[in-house]
This record gives sequence, C-alpha cells and structure tokens, in this order.
Amino acid sequence: MILDSKKALVVFSGGQDSTTCLFWAKKHFNEVYALCFRYGQKHVVEVDIARGIAERAGVPFEEKDISFISDLVSGCSLTDGSIKMDEEKPAESLPNTFVPGRNLFFLSIAAVYAREHGIMNLVTGVSQTDYSGYPDCHDSFIRSLNVSLNLAMDEQFVIHTPLMWKDKAETWALADELGVFDIVRNETLTCYNGIKGAGCGNCPACKLRRKGLENYLKIRKQ
Ligand code: ZN
Repeated sequence: MILDSKKALVVFSGGQDSTTCLFWAKKHFNEVYALCFRYGQKHVVEVDIARGIAERAGVPFEEKDISFISDLVSGCSLTDGSIKMDEEKPAESLPNTFVPGRNLFFLSIAAVYAREHGIMNLVTGVSQTDYSGYPDCHDSFIRSLNVSLNLAMDEQFVIHTPLMWKDKAETWALADELGVFDIVRNETLTCYNGIKGAGCGNCPACKLRRKGLENYLKIRKQ
C-alpha cells in the first residue's frame, strides 16, 4: 500500500485537544479522517459527541470498540465507576485516571487502519506540558512508537503532535487561530464526569480546562 502524504488520520475523542487537532489537520492536509475508540470509558456519550463534531467538520468518522482493554486493568477510575477519581496527582504515582497502554493501543490500531486506507499522517492531541504526567503523552514515547510502527509495518508513517509543547491556554489560542474557538468551547467534552462544554467544573480535567481558558481570555484580542 502506498501511503498518501496529503492524508491524515486523527485519533479523535471529541475533547478539547483532539477537536483542536482535527481542525489543525484540516488546515494542513487535503483529506482528513477521524477514528474514535470505545475503550470501556464510563461516559460513552463522548463517542456521540465526537461523531457530531466530525460531521460538523465534514470529516469521515469511524469508531472502533476496543473495550477489552479496560478488562486488562484494575484500579482505573475512568473505566471503573466504583473507584473514586483522584482529584490531584498523587506525589509518588500516576493519578488513577491513567489508563495503561491507552495511547499505545490507540496509535497502533490507528496505524493499521491508516495503512489500510493509504494514510501517511497520524495526528494525536497528546501533550507533555500539562498536569497529568501520563508517560504515553510524552514526546519520547511518541517518537519511539513512530519508529516502532514504521519498523513493524515497513512504512513511513509520520505521527504529528500539534499540542505536545502547548499548555492549555496555548491550546485555546490555537483553536481561536483556526477559527473554531466557539465550537471547542461549547461542543467538546473534556470533563471526567461526562458533561459537555464547561463541564462539571470540579474534576481535574474541568479545572485544567477552565484555568487555561481564563488565562487565554486575559490575553485574547477583542
Ligand atoms: Zn468535570
């Protein structure tokens, strides 16, 4: 299969970050596709929200069910409703919102999907700048995986991470530059409690999103 350098596949969840990446990809590539995963998340409403945003963006959308990955792990508050979510990052460990292997699975499956569809570019909204400390959001992991995927399939995929070095305020600024500030603000779902837009206001994802938004609005040109 010959991979087309003008095609991109966005790993898409319908959250602030991946939605910003979807529109970033539309600006930089001729053909953009969105791939969304059901991974056993408590709030499957995010898949419907993702589909709606992709439709609005005019991007073909596909979802894949890989919810078996939540059966592999215990103690994760994003996939197990009986576990109370860590409000703050524990000093010595990862927060229990960490889903081990999530981005490894997502990007590996995305690469196989991309190969089938002749897509060279993979886009993911991971960032190593913010709060969580998730190791599979780090630049070194993404670079390593890019090499591994190319070796595994003898291809020349390019993984793009437009948000890697941006904090949340800079991510809002990028959405604004791309002309999708209101869509990202009102239509995306970042909240760990499954509430669209500004969310519940109390979970770590909402706090991070709101702080970034407040910081950006202070410097936004009127
Ligand atoms: Zn929330």
